[in-house]
Formats: sequence, C-alpha cells, structure tokens
Amino acid sequence: MFGVGPRLVKVIEKAPDFIPIYCHHCEDAPCKNACAAEAISINTQGIVLIDEALCIGCKACIEACPFGAMQFDEGREIAVKCDLCIERLKGNDAPACVLVCPTNCILYGDMREI
Ligand code: SF4
Ligand code: SF4
Repeated sequence: MFGVGPRLVKVIEKAPDFIPIYCHHCEDAPCKNACAAEAISINTQGIVLIDEALCIGCKACIEACPFGAMQFDEGREIAVKCDLCIERLKGNDAPACVLVCPTNCILYGDMREI
C-alpha cells in the first residue's frame, strides 16, 4: 500500500485495486490550524485552499491532515492538494473527477441534497 505523488488527489494502491483519497475540505481544518505561515485558508464556499506564494514547505499540514490528503511537491517544495477544481467551479463546471468517474462514485454539491 503506497501513495503516489505529488498529485492533487492521493491514490492508495493495492493491486489490482486503488482508492483515491480526496481532501475533505474540513470545516475546522487541521491543516489550516497547523500552518504557522497562514498559507491555508477557507473561502466562502468552504473550499480549503493553499496559497503557494506563502507556503514555506514546513510540512506541518501534511502531519496534521487525518486523511493523508495533503501531499508535498518535492520539486517546488510546497504542499499540494485538491482545490475542488476551483477554476472549473467559477465557470459552473463540476470538478474534473466528477465528470470522468465512469461509475458515478464521485458526487459534487450540497451534502444535504446529495
Ligand atoms: S488537507 Fe486534510 S485536514 Fe486539510 S482540509 Fe483537506 S482533509 Fe481536511
Ligand atoms: S507546508 Fe506550507 S501549507 Fe503546509 S503547514 Fe507548512 S507552510 Fe503551511
């Protein structure tokens, strides 16, 4: 069992199966609370975002995330994770993973409606 990265969505592989581990965009996000550089914020839609310009690569958020969703880009030396395809959402498009999942396992929207 291992994760591959850096990817915006972590994948745990155990051949022949795999499980994608998504950021849960936690309401009281442990990653945000752990970031001394204040590089992590939550926008009005509840999306937890990393400001790459502020990230100092300390990895505290990676330790703090209970789901293993936060990953580290060794090349750029910054934390990376799913941003819910925020640019697509601005255009009223669903996140890319929702569109491509062939079995409709991934849903996007208000949890109460889902
Ligand atoms: S990276 Fe982890 S702790 Fe941070 S919002 Fe996502 S799931 Fe929650
Ligand atoms: S790696 Fe970056 S985002 Fe994560 S806690 Fe450190 S400064 Fe904050």
